[in-house]
Amino acid sequence: MEVFKSKSEMYNFSLYYKKSGRTIGLVPTMGFLHEGHLSLIRKSKEECDITVISIFVNPVQFGPNEDFQRYPRNFAKDKELARKEGVDVIFYPEVAEMYPQDYLTYVNVKKLDKMMCGKFRPGHFRGVCTVVLKLFNIICPDKSYFGMKDYQQFIILKKMVKDLDLNIEIIGCDTIRENDGLALSSRNSYLSSAERKEANILYKTILFAEKELKEKKRSIMAIRRKSIEMLYGCKFISKVEYFDIRDAENLKALKKIEYNKEGDAENKILIALAAWIGKTRLIDNKVVVL
Ligand code: AMP
Repeated sequence: MEVFKSKSEMYNFSLYYKKSGRTIGLVPTMGFLHEGHLSLIRKSKEECDITVISIFVNPVQFGPNEDFQRYPRNFAKDKELARKEGVDVIFYPEVAEMYPQDYLTYVNVKKLDKMMCGKFRPGHFRGVCTVVLKLFNIICPDKSYFGMKDYQQFIILKKMVKDLDLNIEIIGCDTIRENDGLALSSRNSYLSSAERKEANILYKTILFAEKELKEKKRSIMAIRRKSIEMLYGCKFISKVEYFDIRDAENLKALKKIEYNKEGDAENKILIALAAWIGKTRLIDNKVVVL
């Protein structure tokens, strides 16, 4: 397994394998790898000849009062995990390699970046799109793998690839969860043990909303209200930023579910939330078909 810190080494490696007709799969990460990341790596290994992962805590996607400095990092452990999975290359650049002092260019997917997480983290998706496009240009992947845990990110990146005519397939992968339902996240390491025990309230509430949607008795507004109440019923929830029910394809907010003649919902439905457990901001979601 190679570790490249410079863009030129990374690019030359990719060029060599592309020229020899090999396919490259990319798994972008911020490190502190867990089973969620490893599931993306395994998918890439199944589908591509060469698997590259990037480990880069991207300062541009963090707001000024967010956790960039304290974001968990453990490169030695990540390297060992990646090696065991059979990763071919880790691209592990310094911030100055990605954003030299004279850096000026950013990528923005409009509209989709203003809702849900974008509303509470202005500039976040601009940072994500910018770094992912740079990684695409440096690594030249055929396919790139993203977790549906960050569902809005997945939709925005698919839109960026379509709008900018990039010849890269964006593959969405299922959310990997702990046994009690909590979605794996590097940020779970911030939780105290008491908070951790109750953190699955996020997923429990999503399942509650799914059940309510399936029963078709309550309106979307009522389901959202009851779900937010359920979240605040947990003493560790300090803030619910949003609890949304949206069209899973285009993220439009749904006021009511439209059914076709067969009684099936016209759209795939996204249930998504962001909430603070103490001082830790977590997100989760589920796509449901009614
Ligand atoms: P991050 O290191 O948090 O930026 O995540 C890197 C990639 O792993 C993103 O595409 C995430 O959506 C994905 N990911 C994070 N957590 C999970 C999870 N629990 N299950 C599946 N994918 C995940």
